[in-house]
Amino acid sequence: MIGIVKIGGAVGNDTRPLLDDLARRVGRGERWVVVHGASGVTDSLCELAGVACRYVTSPSGYRSRYVGPAQRALFEAAALSLSGRLSSELALRGIAAPVLRPDSVPTVRAERKDLLRAVEGGRRFILRDNYSGTVRSVAGETLEATWRSGALPLLPPLAFDEESGLNLNVDGDRLAASVALAVDADCLVILTNVAGLMEDLSRPESLVTQAGLEDWDHLERMAQGNMKRKLLACREALEGGLARVVLADSRREAPLSHAVEGGGTQLWRQSPALRSMAVGL
Ligand code: ADP
Repeated sequence: MIGIVKIGGAVGNDTRPLLDDLARRVGRGERWVVVHGASGVTDSLCELAGVACRYVTSPSGYRSRYVGPAQRALFEAAALSLSGRLSSELALRGIAAPVLRPDSVPTVRAERKDLLRAVEGGRRFILRDNYSGTVRSVAGETLEATWRSGALPLLPPLAFDEESGLNLNVDGDRLAASVALAVDADCLVILTNVAGLMEDLSRPESLVTQAGLEDWDHLERMAQGNMKRKLLACREALEGGLARVVLADSRREAPLSHAVEGGGTQLWRQSPALRSMAVGL
C-alpha cells in the first residue's frame, strides 16, 4: 500500500495517535509520506516575535495567509521546527523519517504568488510582496528513493522557488494532493481537528460519510473557511486520477487505520455504482 497522510497544523490537532499508528503500519511494510501543516505554530511564533498575522479572503472565496518577508521567515522556522519534532518522535518509535527540506533536497518546487488578491467588506484590493506559492512540481523519484532506503519521507508545507532562492509557504493539503499524484498513491488521508466534512458544523451526526466527484457542488456549499481550500485539494487529487481521498479526525486512536478502513468522509473519484461494477458486485 502506498499512502500519503497530511496532518493538520491548526490548534486542536493531535499528532501522537498518528505517529503510533504510522509506526505500526510502516513496520508491516506499507509505504507512507507524511505532510504536515504549520498554521498553529506559525501564529504562536508570530505573536511571540510581535509580527502581525494577516488572513485574507480571495475574490473566489478562499481564505489565505498574507506572507510578507518577516512572516515567511517565521513560517519557515515554525514549519521546520515542527518537522524536526515529528522526525524525532518517529525515531523514538523506530522509524527513520528524514525531513525533506525543499531547498536542500530536490522535492517540491513552487511558483510564487507575489500579488495576493483579496476582498474585505465588499472592497477588492491587492497585497504585494507576498511569499506564498503554488506547488508546480513534486520529484516522485526522491520520495521513492527515500522509501527504498527504508525511510519514511516527511514534508513540511514548504516549496522551493528558484527565482527568489527561498522556501515559500504552500498550502499543506494541496501539497499532499500533488505528492499523492506524483507517486501514484492508493489513497490520500487528510487528518484534521474535526471528524470529517459535516453538513452542519454544529451537528457531528451530520458527517458526510461517502461522496464522489459528481457530488462536488453540494459538498462545496457545506464548507466554510479553511474547509473550502481542503475540498479544493481533495478535488485536485481526484480529478488528477487518485481513486480515494479521506477527510478524517486526527484526535482519535489509530486515526490512519480508521480512515483507511472506511471512517471519516470517504471521497471517491468514481461514483458508487461504477465502483461496485469495478469490484464485480
Ligand atoms: P487543519 O489545520 O487541520 O488543516 P483547518 O482549520 O485548516 O484545519 O480546517 C479544519 C476546519 O474547517 C475545522 O476546524 C472547521 O472549523 C472548518 N470547517 C468549515 N466548514 C466545515 C464543514 N462543513 N465540516 C467540517 N469542518 C468545517
